[in-house]
Amino acid sequence: MPKTSRKDFLTKTLYLVTSLSLVEGGFGFSSSLVAKEKLPETLPEGSKPVPESDPTAKALGFHQDAKHTDFTLYPERKDPGSKNQFCKHCAQYTKINEKWGKCNIISSGLVSSQGWCSAWSLKS
Ligand code: SF4
Repeated sequence: MPKTSRKDFLTKTLYLVTSLSLVEGGFGFSSSLVAKEKLPETLPEGSKPVPESDPTAKALGFHQDAKHTDFTLYPERKDPGSKNQFCKHCAQYTKINEKWGKCNIISSGLVSSQGWCSAWSLKS
């Protein structure tokens, strides 16, 4: 087995440490960019989201995230044809920003653009 000189050892260690810090720094930088892009738009000041405990919201099977829909109660929501059924495409939705809007039916707060309820109808 060849002997490694102290100089070789230190050089290789320096390369390794430098490479690792660059990789970590690179990932950290790109992660922070991705995180900023994924940050949800905040609620407009003074507004609140519709609580899912709201009686109208409950009666309509509303969820702020359509993925949480009760598919036992609303199996049609799983149909491929309904994959774009979100509040943001609903006739009752008025956009406030990319994340939030007002619903003409559930008015106890704002609804998420990614929400859904059984009163959904396509915006014309
Ligand atoms: S009526 Fe439309 S906008 Fe209102 S909660 Fe239901 S799907 Fe969303």
